[in-house]
Amino acid sequence: MAATAEKHTFQAEVKELLDLMIHAIYSNKEIFLRELISNSSDALDKLKFEALTQPELKPSDWTPHILLSADKDARTLTIADNGIGMSKEDVVNLIGTIAKSGTAEFAAALKAQAAQNEKGEVSPDLIGQFGVGFYSTFMVADNVTLITRKAGEETATQWQSTGDGNYTIEEATRDACGTSITLHLKPEDADNAMLDYADRWVLQDIVKKYSDFVIHPVQMDVEITEVERDEEGKPVEGGKETTRIERQTLNSMKAIWTRPESEVTPEEYNEFYKHIAHDWTDPLETIRMKMEGTFEAQSLLFIPTKAPFDLFFKDFQHGIHLYVKRVFIMNDCKELMPRYLRFIRGVVDSEDLSLNISREILQQDRQIRAIRKRLVKKVLSTLDNLKKGDTDNKGKYKTFWDAFGQVLKEGLFEDQENTEALLDVCLFHSSKSETEQTDLREYISRMQSGQEEIYYMTGESYQAVINSPHLEAFQAKGVEVLVLTDPVDEIWIQSVPEFDGKRLRSVGKGLVDLGTDEEKKAAEAAREEKQESHKSLLEALQAKLDTDIKEVRLSSRLTDSAACLVGDTHDMTPQMEKLMKAMNQEAPKTKRILELNPDHPILEKLNGAFSQNKEDTRIEDYAHLLYNQALLAEGSPIPDPAKFSKLLSDLMVQTL
Ligand code: ADP
Repeated sequence: MAATAEKHTFQAEVKELLDLMIHAIYSNKEIFLRELISNSSDALDKLKFEALTQPELKPSDWTPHILLSADKDARTLTIADNGIGMSKEDVVNLIGTIAKSGTAEFAAALKAQAAQNEKGEVSPDLIGQFGVGFYSTFMVADNVTLITRKAGEETATQWQSTGDGNYTIEEATRDACGTSITLHLKPEDADNAMLDYADRWVLQDIVKKYSDFVIHPVQMDVEITEVERDEEGKPVEGGKETTRIERQTLNSMKAIWTRPESEVTPEEYNEFYKHIAHDWTDPLETIRMKMEGTFEAQSLLFIPTKAPFDLFFKDFQHGIHLYVKRVFIMNDCKELMPRYLRFIRGVVDSEDLSLNISREILQQDRQIRAIRKRLVKKVLSTLDNLKKGDTDNKGKYKTFWDAFGQVLKEGLFEDQENTEALLDVCLFHSSKSETEQTDLREYISRMQSGQEEIYYMTGESYQAVINSPHLEAFQAKGVEVLVLTDPVDEIWIQSVPEFDGKRLRSVGKGLVDLGTDEEKKAAEAAREEKQESHKSLLEALQAKLDTDIKEVRLSSRLTDSAACLVGDTHDMTPQMEKLMKAMNQEAPKTKRILELNPDHPILEKLNGAFSQNKEDTRIEDYAHLLYNQALLAEGSPIPDPAKFSKLLSDLMVQTL
């Protein structure tokens, strides 16, 4: 049956990615084979898993395999598997489009990188982060044909493209379920990493290097020529030559986590990571663990080096691959890793779970919960060790923290059981240095005598926080303040009261009491005295600001500025209010406290003028100016900028 081919156009972003693939990657092209073998291996795993509940999907004599066939003269290479296959709809959705959110942004970022580079080159690592496995074929091929038949279906689908923006789809035939991908190879060009990918030895090397541990056989039909031999096994001169075809398996197929640790090389771990994580960059750290006792399991986990671009998207696929006694059960098993460790990749192989375990059962399974607990502890202790080893704050842990610190901090409100261990590995900016980060133990070791609390301030940026009036007294006394500027900081800080017996305390909330006990007492007495002498001014200001401000009082946290806004200890910060509004959540309006600096000339003069002549002092205008000034200083918007600027002009005219 000769069905006509339908012509389709690639989604715009896919076209851009393909263009980059073809024109902007010059090295390491051989990894296309790893990508195709990984896809085939996944397809075999999927069929195995589906057949647990629907045995009819699997052909009766099914043995999973991946077969490579090359034709040197025609310059073609075919990778075929007898896995789950794809329906026509699957092909259009999975191969013609990338349904992941953020694809357009990602493609634009890559294009920008290529534009900045002299050669117009982009790093394969970056493309790899996106998971564009199948498209990598266009690095080495100028024409790709895919024929696939989904398990349980009768017809097959053929997809074909030269990578120029279009592809065709038509009906096809295939003996059984599975997928075959035929590449028409570009001319050899060793300078551009274009080797002879139709050569048996080249292929054999690539499989060994990148796919040795794949648990399904990667095979190739190899022609073997034998010469006639005599009884002693010596070749007979002028004897007959016979050739036969032998199917050879190119990979050792050994599950890497079952091999003795001493025998596995770091390169092998790295390749295994890239295989399961669909990443092109080596992992930062490899974690192997054996669990014994009430249950038995092994795990091999990886901390990636770079954050995938979609780490913060809602549909980010996370989780660990689950095996039971070396049999693949499922990928992205979310039950094995909490959300705040969603960047961790790897496998768990259990000895005791049932092979028929379903996703539904998983959620209630006690053993799964126990395994997860152990994995979390292990990951956290690994991070702790990495951090301890990173003495100069520039090495591995710094790389980790820059990539995943924000995600890890989500654990501070998601995982109460491990709060202390998590806080131990958190790094923070502080008023001590803009560039170097500190941890809480170091902060505590630097606390001044008499200081009992860990001070912090949240805000939009380091500069905004460090220059905020709230910090003045702390800066003047040399008391260090943590500067928290990640959006997630606003959230966790609400649920973590203390660390190592020291209260975490916002410098933007409550009264400030710095110094030794005597100093504190003296300062408070002085403040109360001044509060008394400023009483009627404060009351008058308060009356004018009543809708926005719950109290006007004198401050002990200001040294340079005239005014600032503070909250009560349990009030919501303005940043938190903003965050809730951004998430479309109702944020109750919190009235705050306006603190004024009694030693500031404005206050001195205002108080003087006001006590002499209450009626002639424009108290309403001054109240408005002081309040708006405080809002501006903390980076909050002011409600009526036109009014503020008019008042300011009036005042300038008066004084000039
Ligand atoms: P990724 O592997 O990162 O998901 P790919 O572009 O390589 O991205 O593949 C996209 C999807 O196409 C896969 O997730 C899979 O669903 C499907 N696919 C690719 N190759 C095969 C194959 N050999 N058999 C079945 N499905 C496949």
